[in-house]
Amino acid sequence: MIVYDVLIIGGGPTGLSAATTIAKKGLTTLIIEEHPIIGHPLACGEGISANKLLSLKNMPKIDTQLDDEILRLQQRESFIERVINAQRFFFGKQGVATAKLQTVTINRPLFDQLMAKQAQDLGVEVHLGTQVISINRKEGGLTVNTTNGSHEAKIVIGCDGPSAHSVKMMGLQPPTEYVQGVEYKIPGVLTDALDFYFDFQQFKDMHYGWVFPKKNHTNIGVVVNLASKPIKVLNQFLRHLGFNNYHEKDILAKIAGIIPASGPIRKNYCEHYMAAGDAAGLTNTIFYGGIAIGIHSGMLAGQTAVEALENDQFDDQKMSEYQEKLRIFPYMDPIIQHAHEILYNKFSAKDIETFGSWVDGWDITTLNSFQKFRLFLKALRSPSMLKKFGDARIIAHGFSKSRDWGF
Ligand SMILES: Cc1cc2nc3c(=O)[nH]c(=O)nc-3n(C[C@H](O)[C@H](O)[C@H](O)COP(=O)(O)OP(=O)(O)OC[C@H]3O[C@@H](n4cnc5c(N)ncnc54)[C@H](O)[C@@H]3O)c2cc1C
Repeated sequence: MIVYDVLIIGGGPTGLSAATTIAKKGLTTLIIEEHPIIGHPLACGEGISANKLLSLKNMPKIDTQLDDEILRLQQRESFIERVINAQRFFFGKQGVATAKLQTVTINRPLFDQLMAKQAQDLGVEVHLGTQVISINRKEGGLTVNTTNGSHEAKIVIGCDGPSAHSVKMMGLQPPTEYVQGVEYKIPGVLTDALDFYFDFQQFKDMHYGWVFPKKNHTNIGVVVNLASKPIKVLNQFLRHLGFNNYHEKDILAKIAGIIPASGPIRKNYCEHYMAAGDAAGLTNTIFYGGIAIGIHSGMLAGQTAVEALENDQFDDQKMSEYQEKLRIFPYMDPIIQHAHEILYNKFSAKDIETFGSWVDGWDITTLNSFQKFRLFLKALRSPSMLKKFGDARIIAHGFSKSRDWGF
């Protein structure tokens, strides 16, 4: 039996990024993916920061760093569907703030397939339609048992998405909380910004709603608690946006999926094993995006695997270097999870509306000292909000740490 240097479970962006990093060093790499086609079924709002798209290693190739070039690419058949220069944040009926982070909406299935092609061109083997069912320890590595037979590898990287089965198979603690996202694809381009609706007054079960423009259609979705009825909330949200007479037949596609919401798992490695991306709880729990974080964490797991193979060392201590590498990046900062708790579990609908009224009409890309002072003066005039001013600062801090890392 071939012993692969690295076996990767999951052919999403995280696994494909890990595989690309490893295969660049000429090491034998196998990806096991349970679905028959990479990128399907889609479970994504398809928004990503332009900065991360251009700066992270292993993204599908764009041969230039120039924004103009992205715009030109948009005109061609490309995974980039639209370049968007602003976000709008709707806080109930009370306020609308903007931010100016350049983002793009992508064709996510094509994006994943281009990543897979990059990896395969480097020699990565991909087994589709094959599900990993268990993992056993063996002398010098792991045996991965699948619906199509068993494979041996010196290192396994679990990139199997939110369900994190491999994390459980290895006896590690998977994400403890999830939210669910559902989305309709609606014909026509209905906005020119990435729009986020934080409206807890009207939609009690909704964390936020999104309206993202694509090339010829619009993605409209909601993030809700796991126990909620997502389609009911999404239909309510659609009515709120003014689509009163929308029929099922008008919807181009419906997509749904779960997203880890408890932050990075405490330990994401053990002997011969690492977990990355959603499987390791690595999502931005303010906006619940994870493509860029997955690609980055997959790359770091790949780098650690290369170093472990070079040193022929696969023990707990060597694998722990992966978690150490991750620690310095903003998406690992505990302030994000803290901000998530306050925003979604502690703040009331009224608090959000009040806060929204304070920042109405503001550009909140980065708050300057004058804006911070004005917010403090507003809080002074509202005793109930003054108590929560510290919490609002944590949300603002979490937002600034996470905003570039995924919508
Ligand atoms: C509704 C929704 C909207 C979202 N919108 C955005 C957005 O706009 N921007 C953003 O950045 N992020 C968004 N996300 C999050 C983003 O999609 C994920 O963070 C990202 O896909 C994580 O990549 P991954 O490779 O870690 O996991 P996945 O993309 O989930 O890939 C994991 C792969 O592992 C495979 N797999 C699982 N178990 C096994 C097994 N036992 N054997 C073999 N294969 C297996 C799966 O089939 C899958 O292909 C959204 C998520 C949802 C649900």
